[in-house]
Amino acid sequence: MQSAATVGAIDIVAWFVYLFSAVMFVVGLHFMNSPKTARKGNRLSAFGMIVAVIMAFVVLFAKGFVNIIAVVVLVAGILIGAIAGVVSAKKVKMTDMPQLVSVFNTVGGGAAALVALNDVLTKDGTPDLVVLITAGLGILIGSVTFTGSLIAAGKLQGIKWVKKLSLPGKGVWNVLFAVLAIASLVMLCVQPQQRLMWSILTTVFALCYGLVFVIPIGGADMPVVISVLNACTGTAVAMSGLAIDNVALIVAGALVGSAGVTLSILMAQAMNRPLLSVLAGGFGGGSGSAAAGDGPEGTMKETSSDDLAVQLVYADKVIFVPGFGLAQAQAQRELADLGELLKGHGVEVSYAIHPVAGRMPGHMNVLLAEANVPYEELVDLDEINPQFPQANVALVVGANDVTNPAARKPGTPVSGMPILDVDKAQNVVVMKRGRGTGYAGIQNELYFEDNTQMLFGDAKKSLQAVIAAVKELLN
Ligand code: NDP
Repeated sequence: MQSAATVGAIDIVAWFVYLFSAVMFVVGLHFMNSPKTARKGNRLSAFGMIVAVIMAFVVLFAKGFVNIIAVVVLVAGILIGAIAGVVSAKKVKMTDMPQLVSVFNTVGGGAAALVALNDVLTKDGTPDLVVLITAGLGILIGSVTFTGSLIAAGKLQGIKWVKKLSLPGKGVWNVLFAVLAIASLVMLCVQPQQRLMWSILTTVFALCYGLVFVIPIGGADMPVVISVLNACTGTAVAMSGLAIDNVALIVAGALVGSAGVTLSILMAQAMNRPLLSVLAGGFGGGSGSAAAGDGPEGTMKETSSDDLAVQLVYADKVIFVPGFGLAQAQAQRELADLGELLKGHGVEVSYAIHPVAGRMPGHMNVLLAEANVPYEELVDLDEINPQFPQANVALVVGANDVTNPAARKPGTPVSGMPILDVDKAQNVVVMKRGRGTGYAGIQNELYFEDNTQMLFGDAKKSLQAVIAAVKELLN
């Protein structure tokens, strides 16, 4: 152990270094406002995090907290984490990013809960009320995030048994475990002498709440849940930071938490879901709740790339409707190229952006920004919907649920979700590989409408064929 003066000096240095890291996070986040500066923002934030981790090491060594076993555990943990982070960042495809983010939320929430648990259980003497409340909240929220994000990652990955999980009387379990977890947290504050028992009970009930919260949710509620879990990760980290008095954790957690809360509110509004109902399990049709064969009957009319090219070239106004299939096919550049070709020929082109198209908030914006589509051509749901009746062609590229008129009726996993009014366009052409359903697992009524034609095939190949046909027509 070092002298009191040395320890005091180290604490002051650490405080400034953590503050520097926190500033890096804020500035980094600011740079992420625009696709042009987003990479720089990412690097700055990562630099801030590396500085904070190194400082944490220095503090531990300087204060003489670590023995040889602790060093081995710390180095092994950092190596495993760093290798897993680098490999996943390099190997995981863009389309699998949402489930990777969910896995990161899992480990983030779990780590925050462990930090808080450690603080409560290893403090000399009885922890004061502020520490008990903040650490207790860190344990509770972190544990909910751990199991909730794990299930969410499984659902996003499309793991069949996870998607099929169901709960009888789902709302009852939510309320039961929420009450038990909060009651244990209150008891932890009231009876700190019994903190081992109450903190373990808080953890167990919160882990159960995370499971019953996410298991019944699917379809149109999933984006809201993902935003809520993201907010939970940040809040748990901030609470743990408050408990152990670490400014870098507090700021990093508060940034993620407040961004997550804002996103959750926006998502809930966009999806027409009261946030509290989602939290209490009141919504959620379950992504596998409707069989793929359920729904509309009739025949789908097919078209060819040549026919589509003719429709596009003779159109005055075309609206592109991108969805998850565009990301899956990585066809954003082809779509942007087709847009440029048509614009060059005097056709008015816009891109209809549904708030939950794809598999993560802002997915389509990111994808199309990557293909240099001008930002002003991306038009939000409320603004684009009145324009569909004037569109000669609505070209749906790998979007399904966000265009399904079934959302206007009760009793389906997408009911109540605002959709893009594609069916109101004069002609609709849908590009998809086959008769596969979207994330909600139900058939799309749009495909059987009189004004709809299907162009089956991988979106990238279909778009390449259409571009070639348009060029031939224009020459
Ligand atoms: P959907 O998941 O509803 O549909 C995607 C469609 O793309 C499928 O029908 C599929 O049909 C087609 N497709 C897949 N691969 C290709 C390919 N290579 N080429 C062409 N088509 C392809 O996507 P949407 O964007 O319409 O809706 C998003 C859904 O995801 C909503 O239900 C939303 O609630 C949910 N969700 C959204 C999140 C978010 O934050 N944005 C998070 C979690 C869930 P086929 O197999 O026949 O090709």
